[in-house]
Amino acid sequence: MKKFGIMFLTLMFVFGLCGAALAGDTLAEAKKKGVLVAGVKDSTPGFGYIDEQTREIVGYDVDFCRAIAKKLGVKLELKSVTSATRMPQLIAGNIDIIAATMTKNAERAKQIDFSYTYFKTVQKFITKKGTVKKLADLDGKKIGTAKGSTSEQNAKKSLPAATVLSFDDYPQAFLALQQGKVFAITTDESILANILHKAPNKKVYEIPNIIVGDEPYGLGMRKGDTNFVNFVNKTILEMEKNGEAKKIFDKWFGPKGKAFPMKREFKITSEKLSWEQ
Ligand code: GLU
Repeated sequence: MKKFGIMFLTLMFVFGLCGAALAGDTLAEAKKKGVLVAGVKDSTPGFGYIDEQTREIVGYDVDFCRAIAKKLGVKLELKSVTSATRMPQLIAGNIDIIAATMTKNAERAKQIDFSYTYFKTVQKFITKKGTVKKLADLDGKKIGTAKGSTSEQNAKKSLPAATVLSFDDYPQAFLALQQGKVFAITTDESILANILHKAPNKKVYEIPNIIVGDEPYGLGMRKGDTNFVNFVNKTILEMEKNGEAKKIFDKWFGPKGKAFPMKREFKITSEKLSWEQ
């Protein structure tokens, strides 16, 4: 009898874990609950940050989640994530979707599914003006970035003799640069430009034209959550066609946008990246 009890408990435990680890049907669940829970950044200017007036999290990533929740006919709940916590939070079922400046790549796609690309950028550096002309000028130096990011991985690969110091977020890395604790910081140009844009002493720094990574952003969903992935893809393609995606881009990054002006050198399409084929 005792043996059966233990077996029963073990099975319950295993199914419990599977329940958390494997995708259910987020589309159906969210409709039933009337809420979609999105994991967004809260300290990434332009994409997900706290508005000084309203104290709410706002940004490009947040607006994509709003549009998806609206299309689903449910409320949107936002939870703060960092580069390091976003995938574990999704897999554990604490959030339903990641919209957090997240690069799509083959390694991450082993654990989660991605939407079509909804933003594109490249990885660069912020340095003190005039100190860096070429990549080699950064090698052997201390470079700040965020834990759990592709920025961290690419920096280690392209600067083998550098010491990469990883912080929880990019504003903390930038603070370390301002305090002289690191020689440069690195992440996506879209993030760096927005951090610099907000910095009071921005004239002291620059973003040299040195690229160490291609960073196409995708919305992250649980692996095998097919109905939801299809719904999200359909929604963002529609948003591209009806101009809503461009409107969101312009709201933040257009010439009169709330964040740093950038060019929209991409369109949301169903085209797959080479490793997605
Ligand atoms: N896009 C890169 C990544 O997903 C860097 C930005 C970030 O850490 O969110 O890792």
